[in-house]
Amino acid sequence: MGSEFKCIDCGMVYEPGIRFRCDCGGLLEVIHEFGHVERETFDERLGSMKPPYSSGVWRYKEIINPAIDVGHVVSRPEGNTNLYSHPRLGKYVGLEDLAVKHEGENPSGSFKDRGMTVGISEAVRLGVKAVACASTGNTSASLAAYAAQAGIDCVVFIPEGEIAFGKLAQALSYGAKVLQISGNFDDAMRVVQEASGELGLYLLNSVNPWRIEGQKSIIFEMIQQRGWEPPDWIAVPAGNLGNTSAFGKALREAVELGLIDKVPRIASIQAEGANPFYRLWEEGGEVLEPMKPSTVASAIKIGNPVSWKKALRSVRETEGVVDQVSDQEIMDAKAIVDGCGIGCEPASAASVAGVRKLVEKGVIGPGEEVVCVLTGNLLKDPDASVQYHTGTIKGVEQTYANRPIVIDADIASVERALKRKN
Ligand SMILES: *Cc1c(COP(=O)(O)O)cnc(C)c1O
Repeated sequence: MGSEFKCIDCGMVYEPGIRFRCDCGGLLEVIHEFGHVERETFDERLGSMKPPYSSGVWRYKEIINPAIDVGHVVSRPEGNTNLYSHPRLGKYVGLEDLAVKHEGENPSGSFKDRGMTVGISEAVRLGVKAVACASTGNTSASLAAYAAQAGIDCVVFIPEGEIAFGKLAQALSYGAKVLQISGNFDDAMRVVQEASGELGLYLLNSVNPWRIEGQKSIIFEMIQQRGWEPPDWIAVPAGNLGNTSAFGKALREAVELGLIDKVPRIASIQAEGANPFYRLWEEGGEVLEPMKPSTVASAIKIGNPVSWKKALRSVRETEGVVDQVSDQEIMDAKAIVDGCGIGCEPASAASVAGVRKLVEKGVIGPGEEVVCVLTGNLLKDPDASVQYHTGTIKGVEQTYANRPIVIDADIASVERALKRKN
């Protein structure tokens, strides 16, 4: 049961090795020769304490990386993230119920771990000495953690001054060599692709097709959690478009393997200030036009997304939509998610803000079942939260602010503060 790399543009096929693009420049995807797969196999592994099947990624090994030797697998274990709902969330977006799948519950605090466990395991199989990525933060945190576990050298390229502190703290602490590029994520991405070719670094951005394979497990796990009943819609924040790509591939394969018989529609949500994919969608074009990105949601502050072609196919195949939300809508939605005791980082809330908008427009019906993917943990970007509640984000109103109250150190002041509405 082998797997191969296939170019999405010209169809050229390669052995799965150290290669990230086709000779024609096209993106590669992993094509598996599937064996017999059935729901029962995955159900039997639920609750397993035994690696690697205790992982919410490797539970689906047969559809993610069937051929890899279990001895090469590096797992934390990742996945097994929860689905939450809260009356206030449903009310906010205008649905009876809204479920959120919290990918911030992964070991390093974002969904990136799902792709990284598969990518690093391949790095181990291939015997590489050093790995690298460009990152808006979470990819570097995840790669640094997995490389440390595997004992492989790690170099991360990040845009200087543009990544959230929680993420920078992780990359430094896990021992990666941190290269701060003067420029934005797209510059870092360009440099790391050149450097990996010339300097022999194994590239672990989502241009590496194994990352996409791991991220498919978000979909498999979510549908299994719902008793193999797919929702009507899946909403996801869209930056470099790895997830949007992975979700479409997961659904295509789930149908092919008979795991599901209904295909949910994908809603891929961008930030208004970093919306090249949305513009491509709206204009009905065939080629993405890069732009200079700007948004408070640093994880999706990307102007030249690598995986746009795969993502476009995902949205089209699932009869999905692409939409955009403003920083105000993102931060307000985040305040609601946070206020429900769930919590997420700014980029994650784009999915919730996007669903609210799509319900308002009548694209999503009030009785439809929707799952939003929350991509990262609240503590990744504590500055964004504190700045929202203290009113210091430029151009963003404190719609749902919970302002801290400064008081004197005596009982009368406490009493007065307790009576005050914030
Ligand atoms: C990486 C990331 C995204 C963007 O995901 P893509 O797959 O690149 O579109 C969104 N949110 C968070 C928190 C991320 O870390």
